[in-house]
Amino acid sequence: MGIEENVRIVREKMAAAAVAAGRRPEDVLLIAATKTNSAERIREAIAAGVDACGENRVQEMLEKNAQGAYAGAPLHFIGHLQKNKVKQAVGLARLIHGADSLELLRVIDRVAGAKGLRQELLLEVNIAAEASKSGFRPEEIPGLLDEVSSFSHIWVRGLMAIPPVCASGKENRPYFDQMEKLFIDNGQKKYDNVSMDFLSMGMSGDYEEAIASGANMVRVGTAIFGQRVYP
Ligand SMILES: *Cc1c(COP(=O)(O)O)cnc(C)c1O
Repeated sequence: MGIEENVRIVREKMAAAAVAAGRRPEDVLLIAATKTNSAERIREAIAAGVDACGENRVQEMLEKNAQGAYAGAPLHFIGHLQKNKVKQAVGLARLIHGADSLELLRVIDRVAGAKGLRQELLLEVNIAAEASKSGFRPEEIPGLLDEVSSFSHIWVRGLMAIPPVCASGKENRPYFDQMEKLFIDNGQKKYDNVSMDFLSMGMSGDYEEAIASGANMVRVGTAIFGQRVYP
């Protein structure tokens, strides 16, 4: 099936999941996870109406950006951002999903300040406490938000998580539910430079479950583009 048809199907399932959860379909954003896909295929996805494109690697993002891959859609960075790549990502990416250490937040704040802008980002939570994954522990978030309130060149827009790869999306429901609680709890208190607007979770195998647990950004690759071919 083609990209356009795939986007239509994903949108339908997203809308059904949103309505079932008592929310409006238009309040859940579809981020196309575009890694390994060509500029041409990405433009097809944009034409089919995805809300944003999410790239994983800075070098790949720069190359495809130079080819005009993302024209007409906001560009997000959804991968693990290395400190030495911050200069290239800040400002180019509208939203950085995976800010995963205080040190990285400091660097982003400094670079954004030097560029005279305010970088929007999400804090990555290692919700299943996996040794292989980066991200903050849930209990670290309140203290972190306190700290971040003095970083005037970043704007924390919410939280992001990548739960374990499971055989079925249902197995991740407990993690999605924990994320929803964390998102709501940490949205109660007001901090400078923080607004808890976005909860980014859910991929091709589990975006419907994520939406059921309050996700309002899902990052979908395979279900839009088909199996990835790594060079
Ligand atoms: C690749 C990727 C996705 C999309 O994964 P699919 O299973 O292909 O939908 C989502 N989020 C991140 C961070 C990714 O790297």
